[in-house]
Amino acid sequence: MFSKKTVVDLDVKGKKVFVRVDFNVPIKDGVVGDDTRIRAALPTIEYLLNNGAAVILASHLGRPKGGPDIKYSLKPVAGHLSKLLGKPVKFAEDCIGPIAVAAAKALKAGEVLLLENTRFHLEEEANNQGMARALASLADLYVNDAFGTAHRAHASTEGVARYLPAAAGFLLEKEIKYLGQAVAAPKHPFVAILGGAKISDKIGVIKNLLQKADTILIGGGMANTFLKAQGFDMADSLVEDAVVETAKELLADGSSKLLLPVDVVVADKFEESAAHKVLPAGNVPAGWRVLDIGPETIKAYGKVIKDAGTVVWNGPMGVFEFAEFAKGTYGVAQAVADSSAISVIGGGESVAAIQQSGLAEKITHISTGGGASLEMLEGLVLPGVAALQDK
Ligand code: AMP
Repeated sequence: MFSKKTVVDLDVKGKKVFVRVDFNVPIKDGVVGDDTRIRAALPTIEYLLNNGAAVILASHLGRPKGGPDIKYSLKPVAGHLSKLLGKPVKFAEDCIGPIAVAAAKALKAGEVLLLENTRFHLEEEANNQGMARALASLADLYVNDAFGTAHRAHASTEGVARYLPAAAGFLLEKEIKYLGQAVAAPKHPFVAILGGAKISDKIGVIKNLLQKADTILIGGGMANTFLKAQGFDMADSLVEDAVVETAKELLADGSSKLLLPVDVVVADKFEESAAHKVLPAGNVPAGWRVLDIGPETIKAYGKVIKDAGTVVWNGPMGVFEFAEFAKGTYGVAQAVADSSAISVIGGGESVAAIQQSGLAEKITHISTGGGASLEMLEGLVLPGVAALQDK
């Protein structure tokens, strides 16, 4: 199923291995917050160290403007990673140029070096081949373990793979296996749950899943646009007027597969403490807005999820940041956790919801990539994966 070379196909002993990781983690006052993405890269890093490689790590962090910016420095990650690995992690204050070259040259087998943020160079996102060659010149081998950025063709994710023997890390392999399998060869019934704010981000995903899935459960803000497409007045709800026509077409194509909420929770303000009530899905009273799916919908969606063979989920069912409007998301999370289906959850917000609900360990696979997992659900080939060598 996974046709690309992985780290185990490389002879890494005595080699310098450039590993693109996704260490794009929250950092506050120099302290790393949720370190899920760092931990997810440990199996690859440890494998390389145990097999006699010198490991050079590169990542982006946030969205700096193309120059050094202390706010987006990866330096705190070096300290954090050092604690996780139980060994020193060296840090180079640039990812290319003389500082990086000297640090890479001095690195010995069994040692780890973290390079500064790749996005401190505008050439990174431009997939500039000069930068790609400069990154490649630091090492003998390239490993991509940055699933969260694999949908971007950047110098450190795609360009560099053209200049070195290139293979996937364990995390990348695992992500592609679970997400790829769920979409390409799912155990049926295959149920997709889609929520979040907007349809416009997910039109390609819905179109692809209409071909592959047996049922698509719709919630979140995107359900509002579908309800509007059915002719309902959504009052002050979040609606994407620009895609109401597209929503109508999707409903026409997928009427037997797309399930919409049968009831909704409406609120008189977009606030945690708003007055709220449950109404059947339909016209929303003037001045009110839909902030969650209702209890009947949770029940109906729960039944579908219970009987599923495969579930993929992206996007919350409501404004789950407000406790009162998180019931739909948590209700669906519980149903997924209780189901014996193979379950794959992607997208920052739905992952946060499943983690907050304490149900994470009941999920088959929680993806570390939001955009990348959506592109997998859309059936697209990720450039960072395509660039790797075939087995
Ligand atoms: P996304 O990033 O597209 O997955 O969207 C996640 C966001 O959608 C969350 O911050 C939710 O608060 C928001 N959201 C979910 N349901 C609604 C809704 N009914 N109205 C407004 N925003 C919503």
